[in-house]
Amino acid sequence: MSMRLGDLTWKEVEEYLKRRKDVILPFGSVEEHGPHLPLSTDGDIANSVAEELSRRKGVLVAPVVWYGVCNTTRAYPGTITAGFDSFKAYVADLLRSLKDSGFEKVYVVSGHLGGSHVCAITEAARSVELDVLFLDLRAVKSDDILETQPFHACEAETSLMLHLHPDKVDMSKAVDEKIELEEFSMTASVKLTESGVWGTPTKATKEKGKLLFERIVASFEKAIK
Ligand SMILES: [Zn+2]
Repeated sequence: MSMRLGDLTWKEVEEYLKRRKDVILPFGSVEEHGPHLPLSTDGDIANSVAEELSRRKGVLVAPVVWYGVCNTTRAYPGTITAGFDSFKAYVADLLRSLKDSGFEKVYVVSGHLGGSHVCAITEAARSVELDVLFLDLRAVKSDDILETQPFHACEAETSLMLHLHPDKVDMSKAVDEKIELEEFSMTASVKLTESGVWGTPTKATKEKGKLLFERIVASFEKAIK
């Protein structure tokens, strides 16, 4: 039996719920990730982590919630952002519906970690009477694997994508850029860097991605019974 919720019939979900009542809900974004990574990067990473956890722990994985809140990258063509309030309401609806289906525990894995995005998911989770556990990629220690701090379209994300989806990465277009912001417009849509990268993707390798992916899955695995 597939462990992808979307592949099952309702009868198979009913059978699963007799055995266990947990599910992984991955979140992505449709967001620029520099000139070398696709807009799907966050969802691709979250889905791969979720599917590997599913394989190891026998837990169902729901389809990725693709659109999220991407305020700081909205000036780049292709970034499609939801508003905070509508996204929060939408996520609360999804969680409530999972509860109505009979699920009691939801593991959230988000590839997109923008402040407003995570805050909206957190507030949505608090508004629903359901056990929601956030498996936080930011909490996974990576400084012994990576040479630079994870940021955006960075060494970390690029390495993970080189490991998971090498066909979607064009390293010949990768550039390194830093944000040096003393002031930040809260109202205007501004490109914060020329390339849309904040970080050092040129240091990315497939080997680092493999190690990092294994580290992420191993640390999240402990949270799933
Ligand atoms: Zn990302």
